Formats: sequence, C-alpha cells, structure tokens
Amino acid sequence: MSAILGIDLGTTHSLVGVVDSGFPILLADAEGSRLTPSVAHYAKEGAVTVGARALRQRALDPERTVSSVKRLIGRRQGEGDWKPSYDLTGIGKTPVDVSADILRHLKNIAERALEMEVSRAVITVPAYFNDAQRQATKRAGELAGLTVERILSEPTAAALAYGLDKLEERKKIAVYDLGGGTFDISILEMRDGVFQVLATAGDTQLGGDDIDRAFADWIRSQGILPSLEIIKGKMPWLRDAAETAKKKLSSHDEVTIEIPFLDSQKHLSVRTTRTDLEKIALPLIERTRRHCLRALTDANLKPDQLDEVILVGGSTRMPLVRRIVADIFGKEPNISQNPDEAVAMGAVIQAGILSGSLRNVVLLDVTPLSLGIETFGGLMNVIIPRNTTLPCKAGEMFTNAVTNQSEMLIRVLQGERELAKDNWELGRIAVLFPSGPKGSARVGVQFSLDANGILQVLTRNTATKADTVLEIQSSAVNVDDAQVEQMIAESVDHAFEDMNERIWTESRLKGEELLVAVAEALAQCGTLLIEDELHKIKSCAAQVRDSINHEPHDVKKLKAANQSLDDATQSLAVLLVERAMEAALERKLG
Ligand code: AMP
Repeated sequence: MSAILGIDLGTTHSLVGVVDSGFPILLADAEGSRLTPSVAHYAKEGAVTVGARALRQRALDPERTVSSVKRLIGRRQGEGDWKPSYDLTGIGKTPVDVSADILRHLKNIAERALEMEVSRAVITVPAYFNDAQRQATKRAGELAGLTVERILSEPTAAALAYGLDKLEERKKIAVYDLGGGTFDISILEMRDGVFQVLATAGDTQLGGDDIDRAFADWIRSQGILPSLEIIKGKMPWLRDAAETAKKKLSSHDEVTIEIPFLDSQKHLSVRTTRTDLEKIALPLIERTRRHCLRALTDANLKPDQLDEVILVGGSTRMPLVRRIVADIFGKEPNISQNPDEAVAMGAVIQAGILSGSLRNVVLLDVTPLSLGIETFGGLMNVIIPRNTTLPCKAGEMFTNAVTNQSEMLIRVLQGERELAKDNWELGRIAVLFPSGPKGSARVGVQFSLDANGILQVLTRNTATKADTVLEIQSSAVNVDDAQVEQMIAESVDHAFEDMNERIWTESRLKGEELLVAVAEALAQCGTLLIEDELHKIKSCAAQVRDSINHEPHDVKKLKAANQSLDDATQSLAVLLVERAMEAALERKLG
C-alpha cells in the first residue's frame, strides 16, 4: 500500500505528516519548520512562492500576497464579510487555485522528507464546511496532484489525536478550538464507532491575534511611547513582541519586553505579568462562552452530559483559557495532547488507518491470535478467540480425563492451529488435586487480558479453592505482523488435515473411553448376558480397538465402530442401571 499524507490545511498555517514505521509523525521543511504559513505570493512575472518565503513578501507586496484563503472557501453563516487586503481576481487566481498551491507545497515538503513520491492524502476541514466547501477543498487537492482519500472534519481529527476513537457508544465530547484568528466549538457523539457532529458554533473573528492587538496597545500605553502617529509604522514590531510575551506568559509569571530602537530615541522596556495579560484577554476569551452554551443547547445537552472536553489551537495553551473552559463545562479539559498539532496528528492517524500502515498500533487493541490451552489428546481449546477487543475475560471448567490423575498441566497456547503442538506455548501451570476417579476434579481456568495486553491466567481447583496465577507480560498481543500472517496462512493451508486430525483424536478418545467403560461393565455383569450378546459386544469392541490401531487412520471406520459398540451395549447399559438401583435399594433397606 502506498503512503497517505495527513494534512491540516489551516487558515493561518498548515501541517503535513505521515505514519512512519507505525508512528504518526509531522514532517518538517528544509528549514526544519513543521508549520507552513498558509500564504502564497504571486509575482507579477508569474513566480509562485508558498509558506514562510511568501509571508516575507507580504510587507513588500501585500496586494499579491494571499493569506487566509480558507476564509474565502468557506464562510460561517451569519458572520460579517471578511475583506482580504489582496484582490484575487486581479492576480487571476481562485481560492481553490491558491489552496492547491499550498497543498502542492506541502506535498513537496513530504516528498523531500520521505524521499519518495506521494500522491494520496487525507485533508481536514472545519466541521461547519458544507458539501460545496468540502468539494472545493477536494478539488484543490486534486489540482495539487493528490488523490483525496478522505475529507475529515477538524474536531473529529482532534478527537482521534486525543485517542478518543476508543470511547464507548453514545459518549459525547466537546472540542474547544481557539487558534490565531478563529474560534470553533463542536459537540461530537460516538455512534457505531464513528463520531457524529451534534452541533457546531463559533466566531471567525476571534482568536489569539485579537489578544495580541489588545496587549500591544496596553504595552504601548505602559511604555510612555510617543503618540500612536509616530510609532504607527512600528506597530507590527510591537505586535510581534506582544505575541512573544503572551506565549511566554503561558508558562512564566512575568516577562520583560524589550524593543531597542523602537524609534530613533526610544528604547522600550516594559515589565508585564500574567495578571496584566489576563485582565486584557479576559473579555475576549469570555466571548467564547455564549458559543459553547449555544452549541450545548443545539445538541440538547447539559454540560455534565459531556464525557470529555478537549483543547485544540495554540491559544488554548493560555492558563486563563483552560480555567474559563473548565468553568463553562464544569470539568477540567483534557490537555494531554499538543493543541496546535492535534488536528494534523488526527489527519495523519486517519491516513495511517486508511493505508493500513497503522495496523501495528491498531493490532494492540485486539488479540492478534487466539489464546487457549491444551486439552487431553493434544488438542487446542480456544478460550479467547483471535481479534477479540481488549480488555477481555473468558474461562472454562476442566476435569481429569483419567482415573487417579493427580496433576493437570495447563499449557497456555497461542495460535490458530487445531493441534496444540502446532501452536506457540506462552507458559504453563501445574494444578494439583487429590487423585480420584475420572471426571472427579473440577479446575476452572480463566484468562483475563487487560488494556495493556497483559494476560493473566488464573486456575482454581474448586475442591481445594487453591488459586494459581500466571502472568504473561505482552506476548499475548505483541506479535510480529509477519508471524501473525504466517500462523494464519498455515492454519488455512493445513485446515483440512488439521480438522481431520482433530476429528480423529476426538473419535479415538471416545473409542478408548468406551473400551474402558465396556470392560468395567462386562466385569460387573457380563455373566448375566446371553452368549450371542456377549459375543457381539466383544467383536464390536475388537473392531474399535482395531480401528484405533489401524494405519493409516480411517476416521469413518472408527466412528462406525464406536457407534456399533454403543448400540451393542444397550442391554448391558440397562443391566448396569438395574444393578445400581438394586444396590441402592439394598443399602436403603439394609
Ligand atoms: P493555531 O492557529 O492553532 O496554531 O494558534 C495560533 C495562536 O496560538 C496564535 O495566536 C498564537 O499566538 C497562539 N499561541 C501559540 N502558542 C501559545 C502559547 N504558548 N500561549 C498562548 N498562546 C499561544
């Protein structure tokens, strides 16, 4: 199977990744950056540049530098029109063309990093994108030379990255996504193993950039700077410094902002604290609250009906955002993943599932091969079948097959073959019990496999209540793919002879059991039978013995011999029962 790329085609920046050796990874460009600005520059003479280089053109050639084109592909209903600073028709491009150029650039980054051609991709879009907007994104992918295997909704991708695809049916989650320029809230529900979007809401004009603007303005007012007029041209510097300080304040309590030569005389130095930033950011972040509540109402849910709240977007790294989210939903958000890479990671995971390259990882969630124990006669008795989802538990009761047996050896086996000897042994336990007649011992064997793939084999002698536990670390699930394939292929190749061997063994055991029982019965009441009957039984028994010892094995002949012996001993069985009843009556009377 060829590789499939996972692509987060974002408003301000994009990411691309792939599953490599079973692990989802994001790929870096030649400069080592994994974030590609979603910006394209179209020079008058026709040259196209994309990414960081295009971003650098923005100050020099703003009319021909296209950014945030995603806003032109899909607008949220009811939002005011967003006006770009460039004129796409003047440049002679459509939003789909620009998206295609960005996607082509991402494809090149991936091909350079992987040193091979890649032509398939999964691309994410916002949950609120309608069908036409999804089709437009797909068309952009195709123009870039990519077969778009799936258009994946961003919150669903994020949920995949957070590992929530393993949630139980009907579980509900909220995906709170606050990026640089947009805010999205989505409520999802797990149905039939896939996420359904119950509701979405948001604001396309709210994000980290607004916080930067407000913070920059506050810094200017603190820095006793010359009037706005004078530093107007320097505002982008101040914004960059504000953003850097804002990010630092997510993990530090205070930061000093220094901008030497802000103008010819002035050196700016302002001490800021997280509390200052939070005062400024609070009203902006609070604006997300009503959208969250609306989405909940639309989904017909109360906050306490949500099972998880996950965070997406760089701005959710702010401690204030996390506190407000916890307050809105009445539960601490899950912060286990990198919020600005979660969507891309989810796209990569989905791509890996589609291409089959994530099988190694997925296999960990099910038993790759059947688990069982050896039973009498060397047969495999499956306790947990192959492909059972973890965690799981199953057990059976076993008994002694031979009289006076005082030990049972439990061999824990893995594999698909009918005969124990062809499967792999993972461990063994010896269970001791007082010797007694055949069938008198009762030994329960229970297999439990936890979510981490640790197999615990518990044996319990019901008479003595003695337990023995054997723990097998990971070999129950950690099996090399090639070995699994070989085992399955062999079980298919040998299915016919294996099955014949099993039927033969079962018939042989039955025959041997019959011979012992008949010998015992004849010893007890053989003298009561008429000559003909005794002769018939003896010749049927001889036939069973002959069939058992006959080479090559003839299972049909043995089965027929078993049946004849069974039929021939009907009156012997009646005699035995009568004998037993008489003995019981005598005991009662006597
Ligand atoms: P995204 O579009 O999801 O990458 O989000 C980008 C936004 O996240 C920008 O506004 C960044 O300033 C903001 N951001 C990134 N890292 C942090 C951080 N550590 N603390 C606060 N905001 C951050």
